[in-house]
Amino acid sequence: MVHRLGHRPLPRAARHHFGRRMSATLPVYPWRLAKPVRPMTPGRSRALAAALRARRICPQCRRDAGYCIPRSLGACVPCADNP
Ligand SMILES: [Zn+2]
Repeated sequence: MVHRLGHRPLPRAARHHFGRRMSATLPVYPWRLAKPVRPMTPGRSRALAAALRARRICPQCRRDAGYCIPRSLGACVPCADNP
């Protein structure tokens, strides 16, 4: 028997505990099996910001283009237009 929310129904004891209405609305989720979400540490955010900044520096004119340098161009748009 498949529950209408796509979950298997609660076991009889849990259904008795929560009542008929609650068991219809609350899906059973194995919280204890869930892995905690890794928090965004200052070091990780700093490394991410550095990576994003590096992708914005044009390798030809060494300026911050203000956007990520397209891989297809390999340089900022002015440099790609005027090689
Ligand atoms: Zn450039």
